[in-house]
Amino acid sequence: MLQAGCGMLEKLLAADPGYRGPRVPCGQGHEAGFVSYRDKVIDTVLGPVTLTRAWYHCAACGHGLAPRDAGLGVAGQAMSPGLRAMNDQAAAAGPFAKAARLLENLAGVRLTAKRVERAAEASGTAAAAAVRDRARAITDRKLIPLPPSPLPDKLYAAIDGTGVPVTAKETAGRDGKGEDGRARTREVKLGVFFTQNEVDEHGYPVRDRDSSSYAATFEPAHVFAGLVEAEGIRRGAGHVRQLTILGDGAAWIWNIATARFPSVILSLMIKQCCDLGGCVEDGVVDAAAAGFRSCLTGV
Ligand SMILES: [Zn+2]
Repeated sequence: MLQAGCGMLEKLLAADPGYRGPRVPCGQGHEAGFVSYRDKVIDTVLGPVTLTRAWYHCAACGHGLAPRDAGLGVAGQAMSPGLRAMNDQAAAAGPFAKAARLLENLAGVRLTAKRVERAAEASGTAAAAAVRDRARAITDRKLIPLPPSPLPDKLYAAIDGTGVPVTAKETAGRDGKGEDGRARTREVKLGVFFTQNEVDEHGYPVRDRDSSSYAATFEPAHVFAGLVEAEGIRRGAGHVRQLTILGDGAAWIWNIATARFPSVILSLMIKQCCDLGGCVEDGVVDAAAAGFRSCLTGV
């Protein structure tokens, strides 16, 4: 069945050989000239297919391109967009070797664990770059998201960082906390925005279903700050009556909160309130409170 589908896909793709005239823009301001038709094997969810398409070469750049590849979303890729999406899902669910087995068992697609890893990491890198670009456009006010409708009365954000175990090459050159000085984890910074309008049977607030949205990165705090600010703007932080940010005693969290959201209410998680010697009475303080600022410097 898959082979039949694969054959049909190959025939469909062959209907357009990708010839776009004797010259096409190379993408860098030059023109690339037609050279010949070249084959490329792409792995798809139906199996590998051979794509024959027109190949152009730009003398100024010294590189070649196939306009058809860009149209199909396979420029510089050996996997179809559909298989990449499937691969990303499988790779996110567990170890790469297990993801490779899952793809073979469920879809009959055979990939090595290394290919699963490379493709998933390339997707992750591209997705992170797209998120950063979008966040920058929002914080630079080049992209203005519409406020959520209906607008919540209160918006909450919880911010924290935690160490994630990673392979040795990911921590090369980084100092660790262990006795041998080697780092075994990298800190991921995570922010979650949410609303809560109901209380449970004990009177505690309950997070609204499907109200959570996230900002996360392994990058330094100033990069994370931009992602959080953009997500806050997108969630209507500038329009709600009250924005509350929850976090532990880490100064970087409060620096982001006060610098990016001037009218925020800060809320220390209760354990840290105790660690700070009760300087925060009920866990909720005003960002401008001088006592709170001096308290933080002593953390
Ligand atoms: Zn060029």
